[in-house]
This record gives sequence, C-alpha cells and structure tokens, in this order.
Amino acid sequence: MTPTHSPFYDYILVGAGISGPFIAHELCRAGARCLMVEAGKQYTRKTYPRNDLDGTAQLYWSGGLELGTDARLVFLRPKVVGGGSIVNQALVDRFDEDAFDSWRRDSGVDDFNEKAMVPWYEKAEAEIAIQTIPSEYRNRNADIFEQGFQRLGYQLAPLRRAQKDCNYEAGNCCIECLNGCRIGSKQSTPETVLKKALELGLELRAETEALKIDSSANAISVTCQTPDGGVTTYRARNLVLASGAIGNSRLLLNSGLGKRLPAVGHNFFCHPQYMNFGVYDQPVMSHLGAFQAFKSDDAGFRKNGFKLENVYAGPAAIALLLSGFGRRHHRTMERLSHFACIEVCTRDTQPGRIRVNRKGKTIIVKRQNKEDLIRYHKGLTVIDEIFNATGAKEVIHGTMGIGLHLMGGCGMGTDPNRSVVDPDFCLHGFKNIFCADSSIFPNAPGINPSLTIMALSKKAAAQLLKDANR
Ligand SMILES: Cc1cc2nc3c(=O)[nH]c(=O)nc-3n(C[C@H](O)[C@H](O)[C@H](O)COP(=O)(O)OP(=O)(O)OC[C@H]3O[C@@H](n4cnc5c(N)ncnc54)[C@H](O)[C@@H]3O)c2cc1C
Repeated sequence: MTPTHSPFYDYILVGAGISGPFIAHELCRAGARCLMVEAGKQYTRKTYPRNDLDGTAQLYWSGGLELGTDARLVFLRPKVVGGGSIVNQALVDRFDEDAFDSWRRDSGVDDFNEKAMVPWYEKAEAEIAIQTIPSEYRNRNADIFEQGFQRLGYQLAPLRRAQKDCNYEAGNCCIECLNGCRIGSKQSTPETVLKKALELGLELRAETEALKIDSSANAISVTCQTPDGGVTTYRARNLVLASGAIGNSRLLLNSGLGKRLPAVGHNFFCHPQYMNFGVYDQPVMSHLGAFQAFKSDDAGFRKNGFKLENVYAGPAAIALLLSGFGRRHHRTMERLSHFACIEVCTRDTQPGRIRVNRKGKTIIVKRQNKEDLIRYHKGLTVIDEIFNATGAKEVIHGTMGIGLHLMGGCGMGTDPNRSVVDPDFCLHGFKNIFCADSSIFPNAPGINPSLTIMALSKKAAAQLLKDANR
C-alpha cells in the first residue's frame, strides 16, 4: 500500500452524488476541512457524452447493466461526479403523510412527518430552481397523457423539474439532459451545491473509489483506489457515507462491519418502473422539446401503490425494451416517431438485499412479490385505457423492469438490530460515521426520492455541526 502524507481532515465524504455535495456545502460553509472521494469521472458541460450509448456506458456502474440475481430487474446506478443529479429526470416532489407514516411505522423515528420536514424541504428547494413546463412547450406525448387522463376522469398534475432555462423557444430538446446537461439548466449538484462547496475549499478526488474503512473512536481511515490504479489512505475525524443505497452497503460489508451492523444491506427497495408505448397513426415525436410535463396525481392510484409519468428515452434504451428480433424488431423501431410513452412506477413492498461475494463484488437480491406485481398490472391497465382512449393503434408493453430509485440497505431506525443509522444520522454504535443519502430510507415511499434526500442531507449537516460544536 502506498504510504500517504495527506492532511488529516475534519470529514471525508464518500460519494459526490446528491447527498454528499449537499452535506459538504454546509460543512465547508462552517469552516470544516473536507475531502470528497467519488468513484466516477468529473465531466463539464462541454465533455458530457454526446450519444445515448456512450452516456449509459460512461455514467453508470457496470455500464448500466447491473442485474438482480433473478435477472428480472435492471438497476441504473450512477457513477459520475454529481451522481444521480447528472442522469436523472430532475423531478422533485415532497413526500406526503402516507409516505412518512409508513417510515415512522417501520423505523420508530418520530421526526419523519410532513410538518417536521417542511423547514428542511424549504432549505433544499432554496438551493435549486424548480419549474413546470409552460403549456406552449409541451409536446404531443404530454398532450396524449393529459387528454387520456381528462377523458377517463383521472387526476394529473404538472411535473416539477429542477431546471432553470431549457431554451425551448430556441428549439432545444431536453431529452439529452439524461446524459448530463450541456447548457447548465438542469440543477445537478455540480451546478449548485457542489460548485459552492468547491469554492469554499472542498477537496474533490474524482475516479477515486473507497474500498474499505477502518474506524477508531478518534479517527477514520478510508482506503481508496486512485485514478492511476494505485491505492492510498485518507484520514479524518469523521466520515460521511454518501455512496448511495448499493454503494454504502457494499463498502460497509467489504470493511467487515456486517456483524457490528446486522441490518446492513437489508430492506433494499427500487420502485420498479416499466415504460410502455402507444403507437399512433400520426407522428408523436416524443423526443422533441420538453420531453416530460405531467404525472398522475390520483388518490386511487396512490392507494393502489403505483404512479404514472409522461416520459421518454433515447432510441438505444427503447430498442432494448422492445421484444422480438430481426425484421420484427426492425419494423417496430421504424415506427419510433409514432410512439407515445407512459411509465408505470410501483411502490414495492418486497424488501431486497445487498450482499457481497468473497471477492467483494456486489450481489443484488431483489424480487417482486405478488402484491408488487398486482400494483404493476393495475398501472398497466390504466395505461392501456389511456392509449385506447386517445386513438392508439397498438399498445406495446416494455419488457424489462428498471430500478432507478435505489433506496435502503442502511435504513434509519431506533432499533440497532433492524436498522443501521440512528435518528441523528450516525451509524448505531459509532460516534463518527454518518449517513443521510438514499440508503437510509426505511422503505419505498412511492414518490420521487431526490428532493427528500436533499432535505434529509440538510438536516443531517445541521446535526453534524451541532455535534461538532458540542
Ligand atoms: C435514469 C434515472 C432517472 C431518475 N429520475 C429521478 C427523478 O426524476 N426524480 C428523483 O427524485 N429521482 C430520480 N432518480 C433517482 C435519484 O437520482 C437517486 O435517488 C439519487 O441520485 C440518490 O442520491 P444519493 O446521493 O443517495 O446517491 P447517488 O446520487 O447515486 O450518488 C452516489 C455516488 O457515490 C458514488 N460511489 C458509490 N460507491 C462509491 C465508492 N465506494 N467510492 C466512491 N464513490 C462511490 C457513485 O459513483 C455516485 O456518484 C433517477 C435515477 C436514475 C438513474
């Protein structure tokens, strides 16, 4: 192992996705000396990948092809400075009381309630611009979604996107922002809090993967693989785990902490999502302009454990979701410009588990139980109704479930045998390892997670600074 002479930090943060930069910004603002290590590359507006395939291959772990053990779900796990905020659809929603009720029930943490979270949501929202899509810039895919909902009497609402100026008036097509936004409109962490944290002195090491942590009461050592393939160790008083639902479990297990934290890797959820296509006589051109504008907002859907979104994706991703080979597949793809798309996202109830094998590689065990499949099929039935009510000639159901909202594995809770992180964001039994990212979710809320990750990270940073002052 290469000996190191790096400084002793106040905090090391593992992961530069959403949570890490939100916490680092607050810590640096308070004058703490912070180091952030991130396994993925650092891109700029000018260097983000410029096509669908490169985007998937370069911005995700395993090139975007991480599968569960039964190969029924594919997990898209970001690996890039900015993490999910670079590749995600930038939809930001607050949780409702139903989500917090279920969190309180499973965690025993009273602070999970709408009222207590309001100030933290407000602080998070103050860091990003949020817009809905003006009606003149909605594309035909959005119009079909809206018409279907209106004809069938379902409730819908405009999507709230973390964006500032998508330049639709100049004919910009924002679908490319799924591979990093080259006009700086999308409110990713490198455009917002990470930028500010770097200005305040945060040291960021990209392409640096944390392999193992060692902890004592006064210091933490983090052994990392460096960009040149070497290994180095960084030391700090405190550690913040922000490497996401799978990343945190993997790091803790590979550091031999599975026995001390028996719930590590348990209760992993992912909101399985399926894209479905209505094929119309007239071109829909779903890829043009603002690529998504509406979501379902129907109490009946919420009760039944699913939500619908008006979305789209690049041609390579869609090609992978369609069944058939050769001529049949080719004929379907020829009609791509006539596709409208609606995604069903289920609130999964079957907990999965993150494990590692003897070589330290990740194993994702995530199945869907009968209830999860009932929720998915109820959503599909509504999608079929919407496409039929709006004149689709054919409906194609996407064949592969995708896990985009990766949550849990280090759930927050009061019971150290059933949870990993205590209500003050500290790992049970430790005084100097903290976590507030998607891994602390006790279960699947059924709502887009990123705004709540930002809010919880703000809350955690305040708690860390309070502890430090004490
Ligand atoms: C295609 C897509 C669309 C999505 N759309 C939405 C949406 O519209 N709205 C929404 O709310 N959510 C959306 N999500 C989910 C959302 O992006 C995630 O929930 C969120 O990014 C999780 O934040 P995080 O900070 O927990 O982890 P991440 O953002 O995943 O960041 C974790 C970072 O840690 C790094 N890391 C992991 N292990 C290590 C290690 N050992 N050493 C160093 N670094 C490490 C990773 O490379 C990664 O960059 C989407 C996700 C995807 C993939």
